Amino acid sequence: MADMFDLTGKVAFVTGGNGGIGLGMAKGMAGAGATIVIAGRNKTKAQSALKALGGRAEFVEFDALDEKSCKDAVKKTAEKFGRLDILVNNAGTTVRKQPQDLTTEDWNLVMTTNLTSAFQCSQAAYPHMKKLGAGKVINIGSMMTLFGAAYAAPYAASKGGIVQMTRAMATAWAKDNIQVNSILPGWIDTDLTRAAREQVPGLNERVLARTPAQRWGKPDDFGGIAVFLASPASDFVSGAAIPIDGGYSIQA
Ligand code: NDP
Repeated sequence: MADMFDLTGKVAFVTGGNGGIGLGMAKGMAGAGATIVIAGRNKTKAQSALKALGGRAEFVEFDALDEKSCKDAVKKTAEKFGRLDILVNNAGTTVRKQPQDLTTEDWNLVMTTNLTSAFQCSQAAYPHMKKLGAGKVINIGSMMTLFGAAYAAPYAASKGGIVQMTRAMATAWAKDNIQVNSILPGWIDTDLTRAAREQVPGLNERVLARTPAQRWGKPDDFGGIAVFLASPASDFVSGAAIPIDGGYSIQA
């Protein structure tokens, strides 16, 4: 039987793949044989990410706040490699303020980065996947898809939206043999949450107390789920929202 987790010959486009969870997923998929395109804006971070990925990766400039940049990056990738098999919508940001203190600019920054750009990249990737007769889209949600937090109104709205968009696209594109799924990370030690640990009093202790695995997640914890959702092993999995959280979301 062919290896159902084999990604040899596949091309994966990972937004924000220059660090954190995106790089963890990219490393997993590169290990399974995929060519990785890191779509990002910080070139210094991208250089060390490319090193970590060995010879199997390239960088393309991408700004999640700019629709044209998103479309151009997808187009460049598909033209260069002649195909696009896997899209990981991972780029994300947050603004931690109480709802009454947020500006419309704060709201738009988070919604555009986390949700609108995922929509735009998916739309840009669709014709290439349709042409191949197969495709995998992996969207990154959050525990804030499931829970509320006083400091996370736009973030939670965007991550709730990610899961509903995933379900809609999974439904629409099943006929094209494109599977669309989302991953809901628990509390993972990255640049994003290092800032939260500084800004939200008691967060570190609360995360450790509530996570049955009794630790923060690591970016490398996302390699396995990325390979699964990018490979033929998940061909009958679509529209799912899979927590990767050390049990955080099932702790009573
Ligand atoms: P990082 O801060 O390490 O990663 C975020 C990535 O998004 C960075 O690569 C960043 O690029 C990129 N990004 C942000 N804004 C833009 C933009 N305008 N254009 C292009 N790239 C952009 O944090 P994580 O790895 O933790 O976050 C990755 C995803 O995981 C996000 O969607 C986040 O919401 C989600 N997540 C994280 C959790 C955690 O506990 N860490 C929990 C739940 C979800 P740059 O380096 O250039 O800023």
